[in-house]
Amino acid sequence: MSICKLCEEEKNLELSHIIPKFIFRHLKKTSPTGHMRSTDNPNKSMQDGLKLPFLCGDCEDLFSVWETKFANEIFFKYQETREGNFSHDMWLTKYLASVSFRVLTYAYYEGKLGHFDEKMLRYVPVAINRLRKYLLGKSPNPGDQRQLLLLLDKTDDSSNSIFNMYLVRGIEHDVLTTGADSFIYIKYLNFLQLCPIKLSSTKGWRTARISPNKGILSAKNHELPDYVSERLTRGAKNLEESRNKISDKQASVILKRVSNVPSEKLVETPIAKAILDNEI
Ligand SMILES: [Zn+2]
Repeated sequence: MSICKLCEEEKNLELSHIIPKFIFRHLKKTSPTGHMRSTDNPNKSMQDGLKLPFLCGDCEDLFSVWETKFANEIFFKYQETREGNFSHDMWLTKYLASVSFRVLTYAYYEGKLGHFDEKMLRYVPVAINRLRKYLLGKSPNPGDQRQLLLLLDKTDDSSNSIFNMYLVRGIEHDVLTTGADSFIYIKYLNFLQLCPIKLSSTKGWRTARISPNKGILSAKNHELPDYVSERLTRGAKNLEESRNKISDKQASVILKRVSNVPSEKLVETPIAKAILDNEI
């Protein structure tokens, strides 16, 4: 028995995914090799992402309703078509807030915020509590923890294949501070999710905001603060460096897996498309 991070009751906890499981399953299914690699240790195949004893069964069930809605109404449709208008109701902000809550709570309780100064760190439990109350239906919106979602696609710049691959395939989560602003950064396949912890200005944080009620989501250009764009560029750089770290032995294992896949299947995978579009 432990304390559930959401309802704060003492219950048996389940192993919760920080990033929802369906995202990893989809990545694996659409990978030419059927395996995934983590940028932390690219020599090791990753099964299905980070899991922690975090939530009780009831709170897991609460999250899974919103996850299923997002998966069926937006995630799979956008993966297939890369276009469209997606109408949503309050479940979208609930889903986004549930992922932001998991990422921030994990970083805070696992001591991953050493880069935050003392003053900025004080805003973290306040943000966690605000998200928690909203998720439990005790407040009508997440307040300062507005939820942003951007639908990504490859850039027109075909010379930058790593950046394009990162945009459509990268999965990572991070909690960042510039000293003046702090935020949660969650990137999975063609989706970029953002949630401010503390902002000095809302410039760059307005157009991608999701309404906590009814709304329409579509792929369009959004304003973003420079520090978010820089984080995207750094994500692509990390991806490139991790690919260079793959040992010769692992490279031959990957090559063998790829060569066992029929070539037409390879071309159909998003990762191969991202590469082919760049005429490598
Ligand atoms: Zn609970």
